[in-house]
Amino acid sequence: MNRGASFGARPLEGDHSMPKSILVDTTRCTACRGCQMACKDWHNLPAIPTKQTGTHQNPPDLNPCNLKVVRFHEHLDKNGKVVWNCFPDQCRHCLTPICKDVADMAVPGAILKDPDTGAVLFTEKTALLSPEDAQAVIDACPYNIPRLDPKTRMLSKCDMCVDRIAAGMQPMCVKTCPTGTMLFGEREEILKEANKRLEIVKKQFPDAFLADSRDVNVIYLLAEAKEHYYEYAAFM
Ligand code: SF4
Ligand code: SF4
Repeated sequence: MNRGASFGARPLEGDHSMPKSILVDTTRCTACRGCQMACKDWHNLPAIPTKQTGTHQNPPDLNPCNLKVVRFHEHLDKNGKVVWNCFPDQCRHCLTPICKDVADMAVPGAILKDPDTGAVLFTEKTALLSPEDAQAVIDACPYNIPRLDPKTRMLSKCDMCVDRIAAGMQPMCVKTCPTGTMLFGEREEILKEANKRLEIVKKQFPDAFLADSRDVNVIYLLAEAKEHYYEYAAFM
């Protein structure tokens, strides 16, 4: 059982009618990359050649075969102590997804918003976008998420595991995480839990905040300012 349930929210069981959210409490993340691998496994994505680049982060970026990447940032605090910050990066499933607005102008139906979960879904019709329109979708995303598959010409990203949700299960990354970093459920309930967690985390990290929580369904709890994670970690 996912230890994320230990801070109160009920796991989803067959209720498909409410918008869903995921809390990512980065203070619990150990960068084990279990979520990254589980995502590949569930989506049947092949291994790709990669190489170590001097950081724990591998592969170095999102790509059509890695819809989730655990980013890694190292810096010195004001006392000269090394701080490691982990950031399991994925689509935020924005409440008003600008990627969809841009795609709709060129190929309606290329990007959908699932009314049951709020998940933003890229469809096979993304392959019908012209190279310029596909690039416009990529450029519009404030979190640098969409990736173009050069073979299929389709755009790719996390789909919130809507197939699992429809079957009453949690997204694969949430199910796999051994530390309770991620919690999945109804949006209102997840927001309540996120704020509870924030109050606890703030006792140790006074600058902690919830990244763009009013605009996204994947809500990151960050212990420090966004520049100590990744340049697209938070928009505001
Ligand atoms: S994070 Fe980017 S790709 Fe995901 S829904 Fe928002 S705008 Fe679209
Ligand atoms: S499985 Fe959990 S602890 Fe491991 S990298 Fe992913 S979010 Fe972090």
